[in-house]
Order: sequence, then structure tokens, then C-alpha cells
Amino acid sequence: MPTLADIVTELETRYDPRWAESWDAVGLVCGDPSAEVRRILFAVDPVAAVADEALGWGADLIVTHHPLYLRGTTSVAATTFKGRLIHTLIKNDIALFTAHTNADVADPGVSDALARAVGLTGPLVPLMPAADDPGRGLGRIGSLPAPVPLAEFAREAARGLPATAGGLRVAGDPGRPVQRIAVSGGSGDSLLGVARAAGVDVFLTADLRHHPASEFMEADGPALIDAAHWATEWPWLADAAHHLASASAARGITVETRVSETVTDAWKTTAKCEDFT
Ligand SMILES: [Zn+2]
Repeated sequence: MPTLADIVTELETRYDPRWAESWDAVGLVCGDPSAEVRRILFAVDPVAAVADEALGWGADLIVTHHPLYLRGTTSVAATTFKGRLIHTLIKNDIALFTAHTNADVADPGVSDALARAVGLTGPLVPLMPAADDPGRGLGRIGSLPAPVPLAEFAREAARGLPATAGGLRVAGDPGRPVQRIAVSGGSGDSLLGVARAAGVDVFLTADLRHHPASEFMEADGPALIDAAHWATEWPWLADAAHHLASASAARGITVETRVSETVTDAWKTTAKCEDFT
């Protein structure tokens, strides 16, 4: 039976903590390195619904993309949802491990899985390569097998992503042909300029804001597709789970992995506005 330390070693081989941004908080959040680990649940967010799912399934470890405590804390008292979560996990012998920006820039990383989910084929290259290794980096650029109208690509991308209340928002002429696509899982505002410089036809990401998006379109930038943050990162979970299971199996270690299907995107529903007239 593998220990938590064995599993952490395996995860950190693929998602090196040294690749994480300086502001990030990755690695083991709670758990005893000597504890045995049999079942591992992968999820985007460390929230109560995911802890409940882990509990119901009998997980020994939850691997999440987002950190529980990003900015540090002086208390884990069960007086906040984060403290309650930590209590639930520790009381039930469930460890928590985070692979965040180190998973974003890994090869393959979060955006590789997103690129494949929305239908990109062929080789993928980083949108913003890492300084020390051009094979890794933020975002990915890939291609569709043939040019299609923007609206058709958006429909295809929507089919490839898990359903969320907001679906996809599209900026740009729906009829414009697109083939070379950049994607970035999570909040991609900061990569708008890089996507324009790369000369792609579309940039698909999440959390885009009005002013940057509006200015981007006014300046004849690539078309934009704005998806739910959770949905853009969820495809990575299966990739990470599959890798962990197969890398462990290669070392004679058997673990059971599962990808959470709990939709933890913050936005739960939408309402259509009336026309002005
Ligand atoms: Zn994220």
C-alpha cells in the first residue's frame, strides 16, 4: 500500500513545486506523509461539496487545482468554511494536495487538456513559454484540422467542456473563419497581449473582463471565447489522474483515482434580460 509521501513524490515529479508562481501556495495542505493512500479524488476546488464527495467515496487524498489557503492564515478554527473543511478532512483522515500554477506550466499541463477538450489536434506549443524550458509554459496554441466559422468552433468547444450555467461567451464575427487557436485554463486576462502577438484566430480562456476584451476587439485582436473558469480547468483532472495511476502502476503501486463531477463553478444560473423596446 503506497503512503501519502509516495504519492506526493509522484505528483511533484510531474508538477514540480519549483515551477509555481512566487505568490502561489502548492503542495501538501494537510495529511500525514506516512499514512496509507488507496483512493485519490481529483477536483478543481477545495470546497465542502468536494470534501463530502471524498468522504462518501472513502478517499484518502484529494488533489485539487486551486489552493485552499493562498494567502496564509493564523487559524484553521472551524469558524470559517476553510477551517471547517480542514476539520472535516483531518477528522476523516483525508489528505489535501494542491497543484496549481505548477500544473498550469507543466508539460503536459492544464492547458494541454483544455486544448484537446475543445477539439485542437496536432502538436501544441506554449502560448507563453517558460524562461527555463520552452516546452513548458502558460497556455497552449494548437490548430483545428480545417478552418471553420467562429460560431461552429464555439459550439464544438462547448460540447467538449463540462456544462456550466454560463456556457461560453463569444466576441468577434461569428462567421469569421478560424483555425489556429490559443487556449489558457483559468483567468487569461494577462495573456491577451501575448495571444494577439501570436497571431492566433481565437483566444479561449476564462474570467475575461469588459475593458480588456472590448479594447482587444476594437484593436482587431483575435476572436475571444470566455468560458467558465471551472470548466476550463476540469479537463486537466482526468489527465492528472490517469498519469498518477499509470506512473504508480509502473512502480508496482496500485491506486484508485476518480475525477470529481461536482460542478463547483461559482455561477449557478443565469437570467435573460428584457430588450430595451
Ligand atoms: Zn483556476
